[in-house]
Amino acid sequence: MLIIGSHVKYNKDSQMLGSLEEALGYGATTFMFYTGAPQNTSRSEINEKLVEEAQKRMKEEKIDCSKVIIHAPYIINLANNKDFDKYQFSIDFLKEEMKRCEQLGIDKMVLHPGSHVGLGMSKGIENIIDALNQILGETKVTILLETMAGKGSEIGSDFKEIKKIITGVKDKNHIGVCMDTCHMNDAGYDVNDFDTLLEYFDEIVGLEFLQCIHINDSKNEKGARKDRHENIGFGTIGFDSLIKIIYHEKLKEIPKILETPYVDEYSPYKQEIEMIKNKKFNEDLKDIIKAG
Ligand code: FE
Ligand code: FE
Ligand code: ZN
Repeated sequence: MLIIGSHVKYNKDSQMLGSLEEALGYGATTFMFYTGAPQNTSRSEINEKLVEEAQKRMKEEKIDCSKVIIHAPYIINLANNKDFDKYQFSIDFLKEEMKRCEQLGIDKMVLHPGSHVGLGMSKGIENIIDALNQILGETKVTILLETMAGKGSEIGSDFKEIKKIITGVKDKNHIGVCMDTCHMNDAGYDVNDFDTLLEYFDEIVGLEFLQCIHINDSKNEKGARKDRHENIGFGTIGFDSLIKIIYHEKLKEIPKILETPYVDEYSPYKQEIEMIKNKKFNEDLKDIIKAG
């Protein structure tokens, strides 16, 4: 079975049960959510009753909760310790977030490695390693480092940087990688020749660390270091290349998550998932989405 889903909403009233229902409405077989707003760290208490209900619904719908992903808020930055209080806050927040994951029964959390903001690549990587060594091990949750586009001083746009972080992390059982097709394209990797790219990733990082992949087309050319997602088949990567990745033999067990943009105010995910299942590009997709 194809393990595909998208980013879905999460609110304090319906929590993961609401996220799951949204995903089911898209015909998804997995999903990804933030435990609150992606851009801030205010989080509400987890309701045990809702967790139970969500877990029960997942079983009924045959959704494997080990393939469901939580995304850490993107304002967390483990690379920069210039403001030590902020750095410590990021560490403490992530420890709490790991506990929330565990309470929800989710064991995978995607994290942007961070931006060094002038400290330099090697100092930034050192800070990330130190932070992760404080964070990992208290829970069963695995942190998946996302491959980044390389905007500003972002760390993790080069597989070698990801490798350095993993090498420094002591708890190798709880560290992994989440690829992002838009980010890899924007970082300068040739996503259109995915077999070669996957071989290279295996050589540098190790395929065993790959546990999630974000499927996004890109608005920009390869190497643009921009990070602007586009709907499937409407960008510079293109439909056929993304389909090849989604159905790749070696990625069968890995959850594929869409983070493509809304079309006006409409979610594209139901139509995109349908198009992916049909394996046929529909150039009218955006109009169909807008028509509801
Ligand atoms: Fe991300
Ligand atoms: Fe992503
Ligand atoms: Zn992105």
